[in-house]
Order: sequence, then C-alpha cells, then structure tokens
Amino acid sequence: MPTIQDLIKTINQEKLKVDTDLVKLAFEFAQEAHLGQKRKSGEPYINHPIDTAITLAKYHLDQDTIIAGLVHDVPEDTKKTLKDIEKEFGPNVAGLVEGITKLGKLKYRGIERYIENLRKMFVAMAADIRVIFIKFADRLHNLKTLESLEPRKRERIARETLEIYAPIANRLGIWQLKGKLEDLSFKYLYPKEYESIKEAIDKHFKNREKVLSDMCVKVKSELKKEKIQIMEISGRTKDLWSMHQKLQKHNNELQRIHDIIALRVVVPTIADCYRALGIVHNKWRPMPNRFKDYIAQPKPNGYQSLHTTIFYEHGKTIEIQIRTKAMHEDAEFGIAAHWNYDERGSIQFDRELEWVKDLSKWQQEIADSTQYLDSLKIDVFQDRIFVFTPKGDVIDLPEDSTPVDFAYHIHTEIGDKATGARINNQLSSLSTPLRSGDMVEMITEKNRKGPNRDWLKFVKTRAARDKIKQNTKRGLWEAIKDFKGK
Ligand code: MN
Repeated sequence: MPTIQDLIKTINQEKLKVDTDLVKLAFEFAQEAHLGQKRKSGEPYINHPIDTAITLAKYHLDQDTIIAGLVHDVPEDTKKTLKDIEKEFGPNVAGLVEGITKLGKLKYRGIERYIENLRKMFVAMAADIRVIFIKFADRLHNLKTLESLEPRKRERIARETLEIYAPIANRLGIWQLKGKLEDLSFKYLYPKEYESIKEAIDKHFKNREKVLSDMCVKVKSELKKEKIQIMEISGRTKDLWSMHQKLQKHNNELQRIHDIIALRVVVPTIADCYRALGIVHNKWRPMPNRFKDYIAQPKPNGYQSLHTTIFYEHGKTIEIQIRTKAMHEDAEFGIAAHWNYDERGSIQFDRELEWVKDLSKWQQEIADSTQYLDSLKIDVFQDRIFVFTPKGDVIDLPEDSTPVDFAYHIHTEIGDKATGARINNQLSSLSTPLRSGDMVEMITEKNRKGPNRDWLKFVKTRAARDKIKQNTKRGLWEAIKDFKGK
C-alpha cells in the first residue's frame, strides 16, 4: 500500500524541486477530508490520491500538480470545497483540481459520449496540459484496482482507457505510460487473449529475467573494456498489448517477433551510441535486416534510438537499444521531458503543444460531432512527421502530409499562392507525401488567384482543407462579381 513516505521518497529520488513540507500538509488535508471513506476494494480512500501523486512525481510533474494529485477527489467526494483548496494551496492548485473535477463527470457510453469525452479532454488540456497528467495518474491507479468493481463498470473503464487515454498518451509521447495503460486495460477487455500471450511468453522465455541480467553484465563489461561510460542499462519485456497487435499482423507466430526481450543501454553522446553498437556487433552476431538507425532517421513520432537484434545463444535473439540520456528521457516522459519552468515556477510550453490549442478551438467551431471526430482521427490519432523549413525550423505534421499542408501550416498566403515545391532541393509536385527529415521549400506565384480545389483530394490537415474550401469559394464569388461587372 502506498504511503506518504513513499511519495516523499520518490520526490527525493527524482530530485524534484518540490517543498516536501507543503506536500505533507496537502496529504494531511486530504487524509482529514477523506477520513472514514473506503475504496471499493475496502482499503482506505487516501491510498488512491497518494498513488496518483506518486505517479505524478515519477513523471517529473511540478509541485502544484503533485499537490493537486493529492487533493484531486476532495471537492467531489468530501465536505471540503474548491474554495478550501484555494485558501490552503493557492489558485494554481485549485485551478488544476477544478479541471480534473470537470473531466470526472463524463462517462463513456456510445459514440456520442465518446466524442463528448474527447472534446472535454482537449479543452482541459488546452487550459492546462497538467490536468491530463493528473487524469492519467488517477486512471492508472483505478486500473490497478479495477478487480473490485463490477464487470460492466470494469469493461467501460478499460475500453475508455484503450480508446481515448492511450492514444492521447501516445500523441504526447509518454510511451511508457501508454504501455501501462494499455496492458492494464487489455487484461480486462480480452482476458483470454491476455492470458494466452502471457503464457506463450513465459514458455518461450522461461528464464528471461536471467537472460536479461546476464546480458546486462556482459554488455557492461564489453563497453567498459573500450572505455564507454554506461549511464543506465536495463532489460525490458515487450508490453503485452503491443505484442498482441504485432502477433495479429504476423499470423500469431511468436518466433517472428524479435524484440520480445530487449536491453536498453544509455550512453553519454551520439558518437558513443555508434561506438557501442560497433562493439556489440563485434562481440555478438547481428541478425540480418534487423538494424534500425532511428537516430539518423527518427520514427514519425520523433522516437530516437539505435536498434539491433543479436544472437546471444544458438538460435536465441535479444534486441539491443542504444541511446543518449536525452533520447531516453524523451521516450520515458514524452512532453514532460520538454517543459521549462519560468521564474515563478510554473510550467512553460514550447510550440509542441499548438495542436492541443487547435483542437480545443475547433471543438467550439464544429457543431457536428462526426466531423469533429474525423478531424481528430486525421490530426491526432495518427503518427506525425517532422519536416524542416529552409531556415531549419521544425514543422510537425500528420503522416503523409504534402507540401500543400506544409504551406498552409506556415501561412495561408503561401498555401494560396503555391505552384510547386522543392523537397530536399528536388523539384516536386504539390501532392508528394512528405517524410520525416525532409527540407521543404515552397514555390509561389504572386499573381496566382487562389488554391486549386483538386488539392482537397490529397491534403491531410484540417487547416489546409478548410482554407482551400474557404478560398476557392471566395474565388468563385469573385468570378461571379467580375462576370456581373462586365
Ligand atoms: Mn480519483
């Protein structure tokens, strides 16, 4: 059972700039408010907010968020109010708790509710992205204790997690959390499949713990010989839900999945990554066609690492992932690895979160829910690519976006007047799908009247689609005016 000491320990271990006295105060406040209340499982209610706050500390959230995590169920479930929270802990904490309370009122039922849920999530996220982290942490503990709920409720929560929370966690780059949310939901939604995958892995890798720890020692000593510093090394077994999805693609043949167990090696620099890779390949035979250089060519979602599969024993393979500390933190914490704090200690975001703001804006503009869902599918629940402007600015677009999407992302005028594009200095058509890492330069013509309606056939972003529709309409209207004038 989680205790306040565990929370303080986590805060210290993660070296967070958090006033632990204030955290203790918040704990006492919550404990008093929830006094006598029990969870469905029979344990004291306070365990739930403590566990929530511990997760938030593990993901390096700030002081206000950790405190909000401790008191997040107070206004909804106890006699104490949001006003009391504001009086004790200030408007920032109260604002976060208010955000989380508003989210809590929705229940997932059918497609309409689903969309409503998404809308609310994005509005809350746009107001303060930290709210979504509290919701994730809260959900994680609820999933851990799902056993004690009735089956119907269990299923609803698991499905909602798999369909709404996990994709958002993925989009925010918090892959570790995404994996946890998925596996906990998987167990309840598809118990048979879950058990059979677990069994298969246990059978296939009876001694996987030992293999992983042996390989840790061996890789360590090989790198040490060549004087490469290891900052961190750990083993992991592939998440079950992602394995389930991969198995479905591969005819359920476990032998065809080569990254079931993997070793993660964190070294200081990119040069060290490539040197370490060479040392590993020199010592163990690499499996052909399994080497991936995601450092030079990041995955569409921005993930970076070197991956290779080696034979550690006759016929037995293990994946080795080599990366720098910064890449490792990106993969573990996603967006949380990127925020900065201003002088007052509140979180500042860079452009990365523009899409969240866009989404909340659209939800006010679009009355039709199915249309909103379509936009979401395109712009959120799809992998992203990162392309460059000639000046080197990074532009984040959905996968398979075209130069027209790129142009409208930069400026309406550039989109409207586009006649062609140079992709990596090669003249290319406006419908060419862009790939991560491309450098894109637009060719425009001042006298061009406006966009071409045919572009609607290939554009991928809502922004481009809307602008094209809007500006071709106006073009037609102007044409009519011109005609009348004559
Ligand atoms: Mn809660």
